[in-house]
Amino acid sequence: MGRFKRPASLTFLLVTAAALGAYLFVRSASLGLGAAAQARSPKYIFIFLSDGAGIAGMEAARMYNRVVHNEGLNIPDKIMKQGSLGLITVHPADSLTTDSAAAATAMASGCKAKVGSLGLCANGSIPKTVMEVAKDRGMRIGLVTTSTIYDASPAAFTGHVADRKFFSLIVDQYLRLAPDLLLGGGRDQFIPQNQPGSGRKDDRNMIDSFAKQGYAYVSDKKDLSRAKGNKLLGLFTLQEMSFELDRDKEPSLAEMTESAIRFLEENNRRGFMVFIENENTDAAGHMTDVASVIHAYREFDRAVGLAYDFYRKHPRETLILVSSDHDTGGLGFTLALEEPSGRHAKRMAATETDLKKIASISISLKKAAEILGPHPTSDGVDRLMKEHFKGFTLAPDLKRMILAKQLPGRSIYTDPVANTLGMMIANNTQVYWAASGHTSQPVFVAALGIGSELFRGYQDNTDFAKHLFTLLREKNSE
Ligand SMILES: [Zn+2]
Repeated sequence: MGRFKRPASLTFLLVTAAALGAYLFVRSASLGLGAAAQARSPKYIFIFLSDGAGIAGMEAARMYNRVVHNEGLNIPDKIMKQGSLGLITVHPADSLTTDSAAAATAMASGCKAKVGSLGLCANGSIPKTVMEVAKDRGMRIGLVTTSTIYDASPAAFTGHVADRKFFSLIVDQYLRLAPDLLLGGGRDQFIPQNQPGSGRKDDRNMIDSFAKQGYAYVSDKKDLSRAKGNKLLGLFTLQEMSFELDRDKEPSLAEMTESAIRFLEENNRRGFMVFIENENTDAAGHMTDVASVIHAYREFDRAVGLAYDFYRKHPRETLILVSSDHDTGGLGFTLALEEPSGRHAKRMAATETDLKKIASISISLKKAAEILGPHPTSDGVDRLMKEHFKGFTLAPDLKRMILAKQLPGRSIYTDPVANTLGMMIANNTQVYWAASGHTSQPVFVAALGIGSELFRGYQDNTDFAKHLFTLLREKNSE
């Protein structure tokens, strides 16, 4: 890491941060809110990220909850209604469309990065992340994800590597920084190479190394709910955690969030900053799997609801931020003409029936592709349709594509079987996908609590980190 220059930009950031902080102070004074009445900096900071699911993912979940469960959604109903709302750009330094590493670097460090690089600015400097600064300020820090714990988004909030695929290096950096809490999948990078399922290329047992550093280690839901101590490492799967639709014994995102809040709040005078991510919203978007996006988003929203309950208990000390790193798939529901033109052209419009149909899907498309295996058979496809997609029809050309495992066009698809099943669902429900990859749409930032007004309006994704630096700097001067 020595070959990277220390950041010249950090000084600039802190100067900017100080200026903004001064503005905020003057503003709150002019509103008659003195420092005694209104804390200037949040003691508890929640950063919620639904990977790959921006406005489209939230809106699909909101409509689904209304139609299928007659329920609202915490994010629009509580966080957005009572807090501030902004939009942020997603583009990285070297492209119009981002990956999770560059986007999370911008949001965690305040500088544009190149696609694939993590915790490094495009100019070669190594910035400090908001989590590192929070730790310097004496706050407890935690990372929670449904992905592998070393995946790009959580890793960019604490780590610095030239390539997001340097997984072992990311885990080594976690050990050095020692966050107070790490919960997610990805045990494969913590076990030595001679153990089954290991992803490491050395003999280090990182679970032992973390234990030596004072970490309690848990690997299932029950132990997680009882976990006590100073530091906690929870690894629940070898690789990514299951999609919500397929989840069985693993803890849900809301269960991990509940444990994280309990754990980080205990014996804690200086507060905490916790990053909580649902990665499955992105993975499902790549698979063009609308049911999995909706179920993952609903679980994400439940986790946000727990933070909202916490905020209600500590309204003058808490900041909740809910955002995404980018959109995946360009998801929506169509209103289109069945025939391209003509007097008798019939309209096709998505209706509530389509959402109810989606509710009957009992499996993720990732799992469906796994069930069909590397050589799908006609009987296997028929059985899958009957068991998991009741009331859906599979067009003969789509069935042929599944059996051949081939989609027309070049390799723009993530998984030929899953993406073809995605088309089948689309044909049956008027779901529309623009792509099976990331799009360049801006994403929303919903903010509630102390400092939330900073996140209002149309901003750059680097501003997300800059505002957090501002608030953390205020904390130091308290
Ligand atoms: Zn992605």
